Amino acid sequence: MATVQLKSIAKKYTENYAVKGVDIDIKDGEFVVLVGPSGCGKTTTLRMIAGLEEISEGTLSIDGVVANDLSPAERGIAMVFQSYALYPHMSVRENLAFGLRLQKVPTDKIDAAVNNASKILHIEHLLDRKPKALSGGQRQRVAIGRAITRTPKVFLFDEPLSNLDAALRVQMRIEFARLHQDLQATMIYVTHDQIEAMTLADRIVVFSEGKVEQIGTPLQLYHQPNNLFVAGFIGSPKMNLLPAIVESADAQNAKVRMTDGSSITVACDGSGLKTGEKVTLGLRPEHLSVQSSAQDFGVTVSLCEQMGDSTMVYAQLVGFDKPVVVRVADVFRVEQNHALRIGVNPQLAYLFDANGMAVPR
Ligand code: ATP
Repeated sequence: MATVQLKSIAKKYTENYAVKGVDIDIKDGEFVVLVGPSGCGKTTTLRMIAGLEEISEGTLSIDGVVANDLSPAERGIAMVFQSYALYPHMSVRENLAFGLRLQKVPTDKIDAAVNNASKILHIEHLLDRKPKALSGGQRQRVAIGRAITRTPKVFLFDEPLSNLDAALRVQMRIEFARLHQDLQATMIYVTHDQIEAMTLADRIVVFSEGKVEQIGTPLQLYHQPNNLFVAGFIGSPKMNLLPAIVESADAQNAKVRMTDGSSITVACDGSGLKTGEKVTLGLRPEHLSVQSSAQDFGVTVSLCEQMGDSTMVYAQLVGFDKPVVVRVADVFRVEQNHALRIGVNPQLAYLFDANGMAVPR
């Protein structure tokens, strides 16, 4: 096991930076998930840690040792790819043993490592099959098993579940959590699926356009997003981000006017806000109610989507061109164009200033 430290890491392709100024301190045994939209630099960062991509600027340390110029093999890292990258002509047993054979590890040690990995991943009965005779989930287990046999200091996973169907993804996600518990190893995991990030991570690193937007535990990111980007990215369904104007603000509250003319008071330190400033009101669908309350605003309903245990209400707010989404924790039915008041809890509302930065709470 090992710590991994990225200090001012950058990757430059010809003129453009794919990654810039990235600082991440990963603790021994930590499960860190890198998330962000397509093209934000997650994979490039992972490949720089693996040694598959040269680091243009900054320092990478693994277990306190500068690793920038170490070859992939010298870094003590095993990487599992989205494509599994199994050898098709080899059996599962041979695939699992391959890395150790290359290192000329004695046969009895290889057998023990293969048995151990196949037991952890429940693939003992598949050892004599070729990859083409395996399901997607089984192939992914073999790819993980190949990493385990090498007893790396750090495991790197690049979107390992993205080729699996939805049900298998859920099952494998649980397996990953168990694997991390069993091995207690340092793991760095790239995904664009924020449910995977929320459920697996000790800490999440949110990337956007090659930079780190925020690092924190899943609940820190959910409850205290630093800025509009993180607020909009973490949470499913997404946070409603509605334009508003500051009417008054002090160190305890900020009163803002929404586009339908309603006033909402948000519990926050609004001492840095100016009257008349354009701000964004952040309201999570699960924190809104379909009943009028002391703090509410008006909408007309476009659609009620029945989820069985809950209802997603899509509604139109005057002066805002996207639907406002409300999650009702029950069956809820009203006709299209029905007028509703949406209740807001001032303790569960967020405010972002004109620069998109979170107003402190
Ligand atoms: P995805 O989720 O789509 O895999 P990502 O967040 O992993 O995206 P990267 O693959 O790290 O993103 O790419 C980051 C940026 O670097 C992108 O703009 C990409 O086009 C660019 N990039 C990646 N590899 C190269 C390359 N070999 N040459 C030039 N630009 C590259």
